[in-house]
Amino acid sequence: MPEPAQARLTIDLDALAHNLSVLTAEAAGAEVAPVVKSDGYGLGAGPLACRLWAEGARSFFVARLHEGEALRRELGPERDSTIYVLDGVTAGAAPRLAAALLTPVIASLPQAAAASVFARQSSRRWPVALQVDTGMNRQGLTLEEARALAATPDGLRDLDVTLVMSHLGSATAPADRRNVEQLARFNQAIALFPEARRSLAASAGAFLGGDYRFDMVRPGISLYGGGPEERPDARLRAVATLTAPILDIRNFKPGDRIGYGAAVTVDRPMRAAIVAAGYTDGVVRGAMGKGHAWFRGAHRPLVIVTMDLIAIEIGDQEATVGEQVELLGPNALVDDLATAAGTVAHEVLVRLSTRAERTYLGAS
Ligand SMILES: *Cc1c(COP(=O)(O)O)cnc(C)c1O
Repeated sequence: MPEPAQARLTIDLDALAHNLSVLTAEAAGAEVAPVVKSDGYGLGAGPLACRLWAEGARSFFVARLHEGEALRRELGPERDSTIYVLDGVTAGAAPRLAAALLTPVIASLPQAAAASVFARQSSRRWPVALQVDTGMNRQGLTLEEARALAATPDGLRDLDVTLVMSHLGSATAPADRRNVEQLARFNQAIALFPEARRSLAASAGAFLGGDYRFDMVRPGISLYGGGPEERPDARLRAVATLTAPILDIRNFKPGDRIGYGAAVTVDRPMRAAIVAAGYTDGVVRGAMGKGHAWFRGAHRPLVIVTMDLIAIEIGDQEATVGEQVELLGPNALVDDLATAAGTVAHEVLVRLSTRAERTYLGAS
């Protein structure tokens, strides 16, 4: 039994299915391959992927090898799927990748060599993806390395390159020139591997139009309700809702100092509700003084955020101890909280992974 004063995290898989359908429409025929790294952005990779599979998704991306192994277990043998591991063939990973039927995303020349050696030694042809860095400067072969690899007769021996992909660094700003520059480099990269399928766009890129879609798009955050341009998008629904009850209602007078190190000094009479949640439950501390919760039909300023308690200003609004406050959800949007805290929606969601009591709606 959840205790009454517990913060509750509700994960709405029907909202997830809705967001998948929005992205599927936007993808206009390209495959939508959900990204469920970091335990599904903190929301639970297993339950998310099982529902996404039921809605038709057949390819998934994770970052780490162990995330791929866990996802393969959670999907089980009956849910046939391709699971791509973005880290690729890290040291010692090849046998484990192969055993769990994971597809590595090769990100360097040494990784390509290690994959080829493993495939030859185990007398198999191994399906792999290749990541080419087209200008984000984070992960992947440079265009020159990709050219060298494609030109080396045995460079990809015993490997089947089934997918060539890259990642956009500025897609949340559609007018940024870097997008067209990366697109041009990607078009050069895919020409080197004409047999492979092609993927460039994550959530934001999926909304940049037809030139960016190719054969597959790889959304994460927009499946979970974050807008493609780092602000709320009315087409998408909130997947995660965090609520917590009011523990106490307090009246502050001018000069009262609230919180650790007197974080806030009150400059006017203020009525506040003390809510039974804190940054342990995923309300980012940086939102203090800038972000809002939702209570009785209105946004209420987050006055302080500590480990276990939050104070929200409620003015003269009637309120009773035990009533629920929405800290994140359809009315306290993930993009707004992220902006208030000076971060991105991705980070707000992954921080939800700790204490709150979890419920899934619409599990399959
Ligand atoms: C995280 C990631 C994605 C998904 O990004 P979103 O912004 O959450 O849609 C797609 N591709 C790669 C390579 C990633 O690292």
